[in-house]
Amino acid sequence: ATPISITTAAGRGAQAGVLIKDAEALERMARVDTLIVDKTGTLTEGRPKLTDVIALGDIPEDDVLALAAALERGSEHPLAEAILEGARERGVPLDKATDFEAVTGKGVTGTVGGRSIALGNTALMQAIGGDAASGEEKADALRTEGKTAMFVAVDGTLAGIVAVADPIKETTAAAIRDLHAQGLRVIMATGDNQRTAEAVAAKLGIDDVRAGVLPEGKKAFVDELRAAGRSVAMAGDGVNDAPALAAADVGIAMGTGADVAVESAGLTLLGGDLTGIVRARKLAKATLRNIK
Ligand code: ADP
Ligand code: MG
Repeated sequence: ATPISITTAAGRGAQAGVLIKDAEALERMARVDTLIVDKTGTLTEGRPKLTDVIALGDIPEDDVLALAAALERGSEHPLAEAILEGARERGVPLDKATDFEAVTGKGVTGTVGGRSIALGNTALMQAIGGDAASGEEKADALRTEGKTAMFVAVDGTLAGIVAVADPIKETTAAAIRDLHAQGLRVIMATGDNQRTAEAVAAKLGIDDVRAGVLPEGKKAFVDELRAAGRSVAMAGDGVNDAPALAAADVGIAMGTGADVAVESAGLTLLGGDLTGIVRARKLAKATLRNIK
């Protein structure tokens, strides 16, 4: 590519859906050697679909799903949408939940029909003082297929598992090959489980995985890699990602990201996929060659 000026880069960037905060952000983008990306919504569609419902006790499968779905009416998480959609498709009735609470990075809790329900990962089961051990083997089998398995506890006892799968975006695999060709190490950071994360990473040739991270853990991971001498770009979309974006050498706000993510970012991508990062890196390199 021909060397170009910052102004030209900004103009070309905008046309390609890459908004550049300042010359420094672009210069740093040319130098980063490591890219951390979120799984849900960045590598994947972010629109998971219900795939499995398993009863582990006396409560029938459809009731397990109905209790889970009733709870998810209060949640805005992509996983909630998948469970509600699946419940509607299977025609199970949707009750109302009370005392709804979202537990960040773990799941949701509430009361449905006088019973206390918890829906989420192993950490949530531990947090409510429940025991997921009897369901872990079944959950692991689902995770190995790249699915996200969530436990359903009723009055503190494990009642079942619901699983969803989030399809990988069509553009992701090629974008990761391009990022590798550009000399970047690509690492996935996700709140999801290790096995699910590894299954997705293996399909995509992702170099490393940091799974089960709470939002504050993503910032700590950025700090850790920078302390080890890496130059880090971090891509994320949520309010929760803002601290990690701000801590990175280059924060990249993805797609329809929250305003607070955009404020913390050096680059903002209008499209939600990795192709924008490939373009941003090319622009950054072309611009840097001109400045040198
Ligand atoms: P990611 O970083 O991949 O976007 P999150 O941090 O949002 O993941 O969620 C981490 C895990 O917490 C999920 O994989 C799921 O097991 C559980 N979880 C979070 N929100 C919900 C919800 N509304 N319903 C069920 N499980 C949830
Ligand atoms: Mg997320």
